[in-house]
Amino acid sequence: MPPSPPATLRLKLDASALASNWRVLDRLSGTAKAGAAVKADCYGLGVDACVPVLRDAGARDFFVAHWSEVPAVARHVPPQSIAVLHGPLSDEDAAFARALGARPVINSLHQASVWLRAGGGLCDLMVDTGMNRLGIRPEEAGDGLIAELDIDVLMSHLSSADEDDPANRGQLDAFKAVLPVVRHRRASLANSAGLTLGGEYHFDLTRPGIALYGGVPRPELAEQIRPVVKIEAALIQRRRVPRGERIGYNGTFLAPADMMVGIISLGYADGLMRAWGREGAHLVRDGRKLPVLGRVSMDMVAVDLSQARGAVEGDFVSVPFDLPHAAALTGLSQYELLTTLGGRYAR
Ligand SMILES: *Cc1c(COP(=O)(O)O)cnc(C)c1O
Repeated sequence: MPPSPPATLRLKLDASALASNWRVLDRLSGTAKAGAAVKADCYGLGVDACVPVLRDAGARDFFVAHWSEVPAVARHVPPQSIAVLHGPLSDEDAAFARALGARPVINSLHQASVWLRAGGGLCDLMVDTGMNRLGIRPEEAGDGLIAELDIDVLMSHLSSADEDDPANRGQLDAFKAVLPVVRHRRASLANSAGLTLGGEYHFDLTRPGIALYGGVPRPELAEQIRPVVKIEAALIQRRRVPRGERIGYNGTFLAPADMMVGIISLGYADGLMRAWGREGAHLVRDGRKLPVLGRVSMDMVAVDLSQARGAVEGDFVSVPFDLPHAAALTGLSQYELLTTLGGRYAR
């Protein structure tokens, strides 16, 4: 097969911004050390591109959700530094963890028994302090099975750290009450947003994710967190659209005048969700806004070229992917914007 021609979609990752974000979050963690949530392929940005950068910046604890995510991360960091948040569901999961040396996060008494039956070893323990997602209940912390575990990180997860919600204080208090009950080496509560809530929330280890990748879940982080991703897509056709004609699926845009329209090689399969068809959504060329016209298709989107009359087919336009701004523009969460980018980008 001949080499593929250049892609019409580019994702540029700013490695120095990623490293800087980790260092900022590590510094904001005070006496605690920052780890790194690298689940979902580093929130869509690519394990191979991101994990070595985070490792070289100083991260020593990496969190994934699935067992299937471990091998890719273990190509770059010692398996002992990888914690698997979903924990061992089966004997196969436990055997895999032991063979590799990755740390399962035990989330239930059942998972504790699966792990111990497999022979046990160093693990983490998740305590649910009010989110009702994964984790043992605080009243289960004194169970004999938990006492048998060899626990490195005792952790809990905040449901509402991105808001000023009394639930944060409630979860902190519930977590602190569990600490003396469960033997452990390190304690960890805060995600990106949580580590801005103050020193009480830091313990020994923080677990930032979204802010590493340029997300700003709380205004306290806005000044210091740098954008990490740039997205560009090619103009693949210019077309003249006469006044009164419609553009795209369901003809939701009606040309009010004769217009020059650009068709861009980027659609919802690439993370440009239909929410980008909202009023005010635009792509950018040379600092000029190109409003999105009509519905976003799977592989394409139409833009108004009246501010970019010189644009020719093959030119690249950029997606304004500053995450807090893009989230405000589209109504999507910063997490969804990142994790849905898809696999067609030249990276
Ligand atoms: C995803 C996740 C994190 C990271 O959260 P962010 O909000 O992305 O910083 C931390 N801890 C757990 C348990 C997670 O699931």
